[in-house]
Amino acid sequence: MRTIGLLGGMSWESSAEYYRTINTEVRRRLGGTASAELVMYSFDFSRIEVMQETGEWSRAAETLCAAAAGLQAAGADCIVLCTNTMHRMADEIEAGIDIPFIHIADATAENVRAAGVQRPLLLGTRYTMESDFYAGRLRRLHGIEVVVPQESDRTTVHDVIYTELVQGIVSEDSKRAYLDIIGRASDVDGVIAGCTEIELLVGPDDFTVPYFPTAKIHALAAVDFALT
Ligand code: GLU
Repeated sequence: MRTIGLLGGMSWESSAEYYRTINTEVRRRLGGTASAELVMYSFDFSRIEVMQETGEWSRAAETLCAAAAGLQAAGADCIVLCTNTMHRMADEIEAGIDIPFIHIADATAENVRAAGVQRPLLLGTRYTMESDFYAGRLRRLHGIEVVVPQESDRTTVHDVIYTELVQGIVSEDSKRAYLDIIGRASDVDGVIAGCTEIELLVGPDDFTVPYFPTAKIHALAAVDFALT
């Protein structure tokens, strides 16, 4: 089995789900007492959040690159960055390591295409919904054209992530707000939970269209890598 390197803590609420999903899947596939070989670097998210708010993306990139190199030195055979938003720095991280970087958008795209979905709604932080690093990669590499909610709805989606989900708050009101936003999106044939905490709030049973929980999808891609 190969060793998975997790860059986590962004936030730990979703990193905990990565840890659980990866280990549960390894046990399901190998049986008995089997569990994953992994190393994790878990950030203090308040430090990362400040860099995001102040637009210090190059400092964030340096910080993530240093941690990724540390995971490689600790024996990781791949890097799994447990957040969609910080994939904005994926190219820098990938350039600084000699082991594979398992990109969350690529893993998600595989699932979207396998489901025959062509115009999924993308929910995530403002950074993910409004800049091109995520939607652009889906378009360029995978031919998937995402739709994002209107401005006021993007604000709601973003604020719920930062003021509630990353702080461990899961509320019925916010769930209803998300479902209303999804209901308002016209002409979409799927929903990408493009923030690793969103799947703590809504699940596949909440939708009539295919739903893509990126943390779960990414964690399972890491297991595929580890067991191949
Ligand atoms: N975990 C989140 C994501 O997947 C948001 C927190 C962050 O900004 O990293 O985008």
